[in-house]
Amino acid sequence: MLRFTEMMNGAGLAVDVNGSKRYKTPFQEILLLETEAFGKMLVLDGAVQTTDIDEFVYHEMITHVPLFTIEKSAEKVLVIGGGDGGTVRELLKHNPLKIDMVEIDREVVELSKKEFPKIASGLYDERVNIHFEDGREFVKGKESEYDVVIIDCSDPVGPSAVLFSEEFYKDLKKILKEGGAIVTQSESPFSQFVSFKTVFSNLNKVFSVVRPYLAFIPTYPSGMWSFTFASDGLDPLGVNPETVMEKIALLEKEHGALEYYNLEMHFGAFAMPGFVNKKLNR
Ligand code: SAM
Repeated sequence: MLRFTEMMNGAGLAVDVNGSKRYKTPFQEILLLETEAFGKMLVLDGAVQTTDIDEFVYHEMITHVPLFTIEKSAEKVLVIGGGDGGTVRELLKHNPLKIDMVEIDREVVELSKKEFPKIASGLYDERVNIHFEDGREFVKGKESEYDVVIIDCSDPVGPSAVLFSEEFYKDLKKILKEGGAIVTQSESPFSQFVSFKTVFSNLNKVFSVVRPYLAFIPTYPSGMWSFTFASDGLDPLGVNPETVMEKIALLEKEHGALEYYNLEMHFGAFAMPGFVNKKLNR
């Protein structure tokens, strides 16, 4: 039996593999793995990105927390990265007028459409515009265009490295409409604390509200994963629970039950363990 392993600081994930396909693009190496435990798995430059079995956790938490926080409905949303389509699929459940998805590697989108039809289902929607370019360049020079920006990128190495800087966050602040918010995936507070803290510190230099939140993703390093919400005033912990409950009920009536995000998770995900607060000097 073949086995794929992803190591992080001397420990890691190992999965039994029944089949694999490898591609090299101008941006990264892509592995498509058929695994026993997690179904099909997308790996970029050796790092697990998404799997059939646990993708719902990441894609629900990176989208529904900001979308149920903004006061008005989201008309225009920007996704940077997101090549597998899972973030777009969840965003469409909020009936936005338009989604711009800026994915640097066309090959990731084409392969995801073929190999992950459930995850990539939203990429065919007429409201979705896919721009095959560098998200860092795309945001330059734009002003007040988006209600929500989601940075659904890979680890801060290779093409994603530019998506974790203070300068990038300053450009994001400019392209947000009044009352808008951003969310970025912000690595593992347990096994990638330096990257996690870099996001937290850089966002704090640009936005007045910065709140990391957690989700449990078995195929990510240590399983303890984070996202970080940022805005100039909007606070995800300040939402009215009844209003969110009503919005969730409406969404689930039209699109089916969510499997991870719910009202308790909306608030509970922001509870940080003591060691994280201590290391963040919070
Ligand atoms: N949605 C997945 C998950 O569940 O974790 C992971 C994210 S997705 C596969 C990450 C994407 O970010 C990749 O497709 C990669 O090509 C893209 N990416 C990396 N750097 C980028 C950049 N500078 N601009 C746009 N897209 C970028």
